[in-house]
Amino acid sequence: MMPVVVGVIASIQIIQKGKSMENNNNNPYSLGLDKNAANYAALTPLSFIERAASVYPNRTAVIYGDIRRSWAETYQRCKQLASALIKRGIGEGDTVAVMLPNIPEMLELHFAVPMTGAVLNTQNTRLDSETIAFMLDHGEAKVMITDREYSDIVAKAVRMASVTPLVVDVDDPQFQVGDLVGEMTYEQLLEEGDTDFQWSAPEDEWQAITLNYTSGTTGNPKGVVYHHRGAHLNAVSNIIGQNLPPHAVYLWTLPMFHCNGWCYPWSVTAVAGTHVCLRHLQPDKVFELIESCGVTHFCGAPVVLNMLLNASDEVKNSLTRTVTVTTGGAAPPAAIIEGMENIGIKVVHAYGLTESYGPSVFCAHQEEWDALALEQKAAKMARQGVRAPALEEVMVADPETMLPVQRDGRTLGEIFMRGNNVMKGYLKNPSSSDAAFAGGWFHTGDLAVWHEDGYIEVKDRSKDVIISGGENISTIEVEDTLYRHPDILEAAVVAKPHEHWGEVPCAFVTLKPGASVSEAEIISFTRDNMAHFKCPKQVVFAPLPKTSTGKVQKFALRSMLKDLG
Ligand code: ADP
Repeated sequence: MMPVVVGVIASIQIIQKGKSMENNNNNPYSLGLDKNAANYAALTPLSFIERAASVYPNRTAVIYGDIRRSWAETYQRCKQLASALIKRGIGEGDTVAVMLPNIPEMLELHFAVPMTGAVLNTQNTRLDSETIAFMLDHGEAKVMITDREYSDIVAKAVRMASVTPLVVDVDDPQFQVGDLVGEMTYEQLLEEGDTDFQWSAPEDEWQAITLNYTSGTTGNPKGVVYHHRGAHLNAVSNIIGQNLPPHAVYLWTLPMFHCNGWCYPWSVTAVAGTHVCLRHLQPDKVFELIESCGVTHFCGAPVVLNMLLNASDEVKNSLTRTVTVTTGGAAPPAAIIEGMENIGIKVVHAYGLTESYGPSVFCAHQEEWDALALEQKAAKMARQGVRAPALEEVMVADPETMLPVQRDGRTLGEIFMRGNNVMKGYLKNPSSSDAAFAGGWFHTGDLAVWHEDGYIEVKDRSKDVIISGGENISTIEVEDTLYRHPDILEAAVVAKPHEHWGEVPCAFVTLKPGASVSEAEIISFTRDNMAHFKCPKQVVFAPLPKTSTGKVQKFALRSMLKDLG
């Protein structure tokens, strides 16, 4: 318990230090002045769009199919929608839920909803009606904005929920499949708003801006609340961490519903860039848009990178531009990083959670890595890295004592973080919030080692690590080896109960089209490439079930394994 207490004492000391400095009359720098409107404004990402629109009114803000809108037009639409929502009674403390793909309206709502003082709740488009109904009730949604593509599921969810939100349809002229199920369309709602509406920034930067539910694989989803300050800071942190230049052209391959698209709706707006929207992720389309729109940056889980790598050579060879992808959400196998760099796509590796506004740790690039062979460089880049600018501290520590582990690249501990891009807390869930923040650190539940150079490397989620004969086996490490096999398209490793060892690794693999390789050959490949106790004892050939954010659903694999007997 000791170190927990030390953590708390440290936090209190910081606060006291701040106080005493303000009140200390002997300090000439206290000036005897309070913050005032001339030198203090609450941080909010909303100010980014006002700047983009006033400084670059004619630059392209959004591209979607044949739609192109400037910053002036986009800002105008956001303000008008905010005004319409206010006329409908929406304001501070209210929730506006949305179930939308990566289309311009989704981007607009990231500004329009908080302009009213309300909270935007972006919902995962692959969820079932029961879970959506739970979220509508838990978040007490006043409005639900949906798309034809999900109208059946949303209509059922609204019927099941106890709340009765105003349902609004986005009627996308480029996607007319599915019914309209709302009381009105988005454009009709927009029409109700004043064109000269003036929004006001929140007085308090601690005010909630968005609500993001976790995946809920271990019970009901938890509602992670972001505030304006954290959203502003993490948006800027992305710009620094991913070297986002002025006017970056950003392709929306990462779902905007996931942790508010890792805060990129605000980051790209801050650099007055261009948002290239994309409803469905298709590798050919991604390569085509990179060329036709001059895309400079995009983000995606490693599974997205793998999809791109497995596109035809003709498609991959069409790439003539320099483009950077930020990957994260799951560990990218070094082989995938290597593959991307080989086809000319630069990789930035980021790590984070819903609770940390998406990316809060980056694998910051060191120039000397460029002199390494690609395989070694990719191994360095596959590590999760160091704190992003907005994060104050990250440590790998013993989960019991909270004492930092040795920086030896071997000792396993839990990742803890603290800083302004850690969530405000969970909605209506004080016990989970308290547990998550115990000791003045956010507990990630991820296990990692800490390298001598200060870079952390995730080895597993604590619930996924395999303990075999008392030894920890990192499923990520085994998967990394499997991804090097030329016939394997995708791989995931889970624990299989074992009489003698307690648990042993079992690999689920999907082969590349036309490939054929036996279980014994795969096991022998791993034995040639890693310590034998870490090698899978069983290989199951099957497609890998994934979440919409590209994570393999390991709980589904474990239950598949149970059924196999
Ligand atoms: P979900 O619970 O739906 O997966 P999150 O998006 O919050 O929700 O997932 C965060 C988790 O994803 C982290 O706790 C970690 O286990 C995993 N993760 C994220 N980025 C990385 C990364 N770069 N490498 C390894 N694991 C990652």
